[in-house]
Order: sequence, then structure tokens, then C-alpha cells
Amino acid sequence: MAIVEGDSNGCNVRIDPVSKPNLWDLVVVGAGPAGSAAAFACARNGRQVLLLERHSLPRYKTCGGGLVGKAIRALPTPLSPSLIEHQCRAARMGIRLADGQEAGFTVRRPQAIVTMTMRSALDHALARQAQEAGARLWQDCPLTGLATHRDHVELQTGQGTIRTRWLIGADGVGSTVARLGGFPRLTQVAPALEWELPATHQQVRQYADCPHFDFVDGHSYAWVFAKQSHLSVGIMTVPQGGTALKCALSAYLNERGIHHKFNLEGASFHGHRIPLLPRAGGAVRRRILLVGDAAGLADPITGEGISYALHSGKLAGQAIARGGNCGARYTDQLSHQLLPDLAVARELARLLYGQPRLSRWVMAHFGQSICNLMAQVMAGELPYRDLSGALFSRLPGGLLRRLGLPYR
Ligand SMILES: Cc1cc2nc3c(=O)[nH]c(=O)nc-3n(C[C@H](O)[C@H](O)[C@H](O)COP(=O)(O)OP(=O)(O)OC[C@H]3O[C@@H](n4cnc5c(N)ncnc54)[C@H](O)[C@@H]3O)c2cc1C
Repeated sequence: MAIVEGDSNGCNVRIDPVSKPNLWDLVVVGAGPAGSAAAFACARNGRQVLLLERHSLPRYKTCGGGLVGKAIRALPTPLSPSLIEHQCRAARMGIRLADGQEAGFTVRRPQAIVTMTMRSALDHALARQAQEAGARLWQDCPLTGLATHRDHVELQTGQGTIRTRWLIGADGVGSTVARLGGFPRLTQVAPALEWELPATHQQVRQYADCPHFDFVDGHSYAWVFAKQSHLSVGIMTVPQGGTALKCALSAYLNERGIHHKFNLEGASFHGHRIPLLPRAGGAVRRRILLVGDAAGLADPITGEGISYALHSGKLAGQAIARGGNCGARYTDQLSHQLLPDLAVARELARLLYGQPRLSRWVMAHFGQSICNLMAQVMAGELPYRDLSGALFSRLPGGLLRRLGLPYR
């Protein structure tokens, strides 16, 4: 059977089956940011890497497309200006207080806090970079089955059976690799909804420099991001929130007057899920490594997952390129570079979403400091694990202890 493969210009070409190796060094399932970063990191070190994607690229991905500073830094190559919809040097964080009033805090910085992109274009560009580094890309090619052997993994795909020394599952929150590979299920996943509203130039300008991040009902977080010709609005809720997302998003848009201003007839909304907790038992099993959403790596406060996807993908790809005990090396790097941060972010999320009265009080009194610090976290200048120390210097120590926050 001939293989349909995308060339680095994004065109599909048919490849003679004899040109595929009998045993790949690495097969990566899923051409999102995590998968392409992994394929890039491994292929550029001369390994034979295959990237499998079930859709044809470019494909739509439910996502706000906001790249925070630490995501920009984790990209394999600098972000092309053609992928940038807006660069936002300001951000506004809002929270509804106990008396029903809204408190809003704005932070401005010389560099972009968030860079807006469209995921279809971003992911396509990342996959092309992986190809340019030497990886092969098979599109329209879902993984449907796998069997792990002592020295290789056998995969059933939309285009036949293939074998690989190592397998990376970069196939998102509903990972087929994780399910077929026998990993435990993700235990905490937030439902999220995203709506793309067509908007006029003037309407876009209102949010173009300053995305809104709002903690709306004690359990949910909503956003308004401006793209070139539309607004991306969305909401995520923590599992115990029990919020009807569509109603909550509608109410949020009503409050901002967006319902009245925008033509909802043309709006298409998409639901998806965001992992809030890394997968129990770790991201490695035998010859399989999980990265990005598949490993449960996303910010439990903001739902930001692209930086973690890029970072974990790179670590896994590099670990496999170096050979030897790849799984142990990846586990070690994750536990030094990403997991401690996510553990502190989870503590903060527990406070923010789990104790709404207390967090409203804290925000009412220290909202501007917290907003400034969050901008530093997004920029990658302040790791979450140092945030509690920074909070400690701004908030009374007794209060921090009462909140149960770890600090040094
Ligand atoms: C509503 C919403 C808004 C968000 N907004 C932001 C934001 O603004 N900024 C941010 O940083 N993060 C945001 N996130 C989180 C972000 O989208 C994810 O964390 C990120 O996409 C994870 O990247 P990934 O590469 O791990 O997985 P994905 O991007 O999900 O990519 C997985 C890929 O695997 C493919 N695939 C799946 N199954 C198979 C299979 N069986 N065979 C072959 N291929 C397969 C899929 O088609 C897909 O291309 C948002 C999430 C949601 C739900």
C-alpha cells in the first residue's frame, strides 16, 4: 500500500512503501505542539522519526491559541511573524467579589504577556519544522492498536502495521496511546468551551492589546482573546464546579455586553477538556512515553497547556535521541523541570477554585500584586515554585499560613 505523507510545504505526496524503515527509532502519535516538539528534538539528532496524525493538517483545534512567554521560549525555532495575530503587552484579570461587584486589575509590560495565534496555523508550522529536521509525517493516519514487546512496539495504524523502538503518545487529553498502553486514566480533567465570534475591526481593537482573564463564579475561569478578525471567548470549570458551561459563558458575555454587540448567528462553539493533574503512576511505561496533555501536563489555574506540551515534547524527544535508559531520563527531567511547578500551581488552584470566599477576600486586598506576579509567571520569569515566596513578601505571613500555601 502506498503511504500518504505531507511534504514540508504541507502538500500530500504518495511515498513508495519500500522507502519506510522496517523499524523506526521513534514513532510519535499526534502532531500537536507536544508531538511536533518531540519529533523535532529527536529527528535533528539523526534518528529515524515518524510523526503520525489522524487528521490532515492544517486541522482545527479547540484552543484560545494564546502563547505565554514561556511557550514562546519553548518553541523549537523562533515564532514566525506570519503566525502572530496580536501581541498583547497588557492583560486584565477580573474576579467577582462577595458583594457581586467585579474587581479588575490590569498589568502592562514592555514585552508581550500573551501572543495570539491560530492553532491550525501554529500546529501546521510546528509539524513542518519537525519534517525539516528530518522527521517523516503521515497524515490522515490514526493509531488504532499497539502491542509492546521487549525491544520494540508494534503499532496498528490507518496505513498498516509498523514497528518502532520507542513510542511517544502526544495524542492529547483523550490519548489512545495511554489507553492502549495500559496507563491509568487521567483523574482530574476540566471541561472547557470555546466560541469564535466574528467581529469588526473596531470590536477586535477593544481587546487586541489586552486579553481578559476572569474568575467568574468561584469555580470557573473565562477569557476574551482577540484574533485578527474575530474574538475567541471561552470558559473552563473545575470538575466540582458543576457549572452548565454554555449558560455560564452566555452570562459572562452578557455581562460584558458582548452578546449584544456580536452576531452570535455566525458563532461556532467547541467543547474540549483540559487536564488538571499529571497522570498517576508517571508518564512512562515500558517503551512508551507520554507528553503534553496526554501526560496530564497543563496549568490547573489558567488551562495553559502549550508551554508544557512543547517543553515535555522536547524533553522526551531528546531523551530518546540520547539512547540508553530513555524512560528513566525523561522521568527524571520531568520531575526536575515541570512537575514541581505544577504541584505549586495545583495548591494555588485548590485555593482559588476550592475556597471561593477566601480567594475573593485575598483578591479584593492584594489583587493587583497577584496580577503582576501572574504576568511574571506567564512570562516564564517566575516559576510557580518561587511564586509562594514572592507572595510571602507581599502578603502577611499569617495569612499565607492560613491559606496552607507552601512558601520558602
Ligand atoms: C477551550 C480551550 C482553550 C485553550 N486555550 C489555551 C491557550 O490559549 N493557551 C494555551 O497554552 N493552552 C490552551 N489550551 C490547552 C491546549 O490546547 C493544550 O494544552 C495543548 O493543545 C496540548 O497540546 P498537545 O500537543 O499535548 O495535544 P493536542 O494539541 O491535543 O494535539 C494532539 C494531536 O493528536 C492527534 N491525535 C489524537 N488521537 C490520535 C490518534 N489515535 N492517532 C493519531 N493522531 C491522534 C490529534 O488530532 C491532535 O492533532 C486550551 C484548551 C482548551 C480545551
